[in-house]
Amino acid sequence: MWVMYVDESGTPGDRESRYFVMAGVAVFERSMLGLSRALNTIQEKYIPDYTGLLEFHASELRSPRGGTFWRDNVAREVREQILEEIGYAVANPSYLAWVKLFGVAIEKHFLDHDGESIYERALNELCRRFDIFLSRQHQRTRQPHLGMLIFDESQLQTETRQLMLSYRTGQHEWVTTGRIVEVPFFADSRDTRLLQAADYVAYALYRRYEHGDISLFDRISRAFDSDNGIIHGLKHIHSAFSTCLCPACLSRRLSQQPPD
Ligand SMILES: [Zn+2]
Repeated sequence: MWVMYVDESGTPGDRESRYFVMAGVAVFERSMLGLSRALNTIQEKYIPDYTGLLEFHASELRSPRGGTFWRDNVAREVREQILEEIGYAVANPSYLAWVKLFGVAIEKHFLDHDGESIYERALNELCRRFDIFLSRQHQRTRQPHLGMLIFDESQLQTETRQLMLSYRTGQHEWVTTGRIVEVPFFADSRDTRLLQAADYVAYALYRRYEHGDISLFDRISRAFDSDNGIIHGLKHIHSAFSTCLCPACLSRRLSQQPPD
């Protein structure tokens, strides 16, 4: 069983920003505890006196709001070091076979022309890429690999709730291959390190595509699902595929295959 923790960055309906991003950290069942412990170790190393579980929220670590724990107690250099170590843990070379990253970055203006729901497109793309990965795992190992989705319940937007409800009640088509279990689950990111890892990936993607800041993305880019040099785990939906130099578009163009 592969469990994919899902988080998002940006707002689908916000006209002030160009991008909406959804990201997933898929972890094989046996490695879930190992990755959680690796993230716990970062807190123990840098904030040894704090006994509870401090939530790693990437945007707060980068730019904490006034009056928050991170702003009041942790120097900027330390927060940046923590961010760096979270990125290393998420894309640790020794975990690469058991931790796969997925992401969808949507240029909202581009989809406006199609009249398609940005959130729904992001979710469908993310699930499709996860499903492609599970299918490949099945072919390689000759054993079925199932997938499960876990969302951050504390961040759920109204549209998310409605979409999830429509999946549950059968009013909307969920992934139909049978590899992803039909009911998504929810957890609180304050209690779940692996949702915090998904938050890091979503923030890194948002910084990459919205602001051109590659500093966080470059630490994790190797962990996006890929096969034969093509990055299948990352989808960039926008109007300039033929010239874009991001790894997702570039790897697809160099393979001389059409965008999937
Ligand atoms: Zn691109």
